[in-house]
Amino acid sequence: MKRIQLLDKQFALSIPASDIKKALWEMAEKMNKELKDQNPLMICILNGSFMFSADLMKLIDFPCEISFVKLASYEGMGSTGKVKQLIGLNEEIEGRTVVLLEDIVDTGVTIENLMNQLDSQKPKDVKVATLLFKPEACKKNVKLDYVGLEIPNDFIVGYGLDYDGYGRNLPDIYTVID
Ligand code: 5GP
Ligand code: MG
Repeated sequence: MKRIQLLDKQFALSIPASDIKKALWEMAEKMNKELKDQNPLMICILNGSFMFSADLMKLIDFPCEISFVKLASYEGMGSTGKVKQLIGLNEEIEGRTVVLLEDIVDTGVTIENLMNQLDSQKPKDVKVATLLFKPEACKKNVKLDYVGLEIPNDFIVGYGLDYDGYGRNLPDIYTVID
């Protein structure tokens, strides 16, 4: 099994790029059917979702716009339980379908926090598309409309996800070895 080192930690390959690609195709197929007449505003949640959002957007064939928010809740290998908003949303979303693009839903705190914030601006609908979901870690009752892959409750890096800033450029996903 391929291993890599980032800072002080070792990681082993867990999701190869080919599996990520397959999951993206499946998500996009469903989205292309369900959202084709919605003219949604897609919202990429930075930093982690930049790679997922870029690859997913290339598979989407309905009219849509994309914007970006920057949130942070993780430090090192764990959630702080608090969400810091580093860049906010400029677009009007009243009456509009919004699709949140998230790299991973872990505790669910980030996505719930953002959904509550957007709800006050009266969107028509807020949908969530997440590449990865950790069902065992999730403490919030959030509806996930499009999920790429369900994964165990372990810390991962790669494909946009980092360990203290490093590893975002990796095309595959790796799990920490303890
Ligand atoms: P939540 O608020 O659901 O606990 O986590 C949301 C954010 O924490 C994700 O968008 C992601 O940026 C980060 N995160 C959650 N799990 C992991 C993980 O296993 N690895 C990395 N690198 N980040 C994670
Ligand atoms: Mg994220």
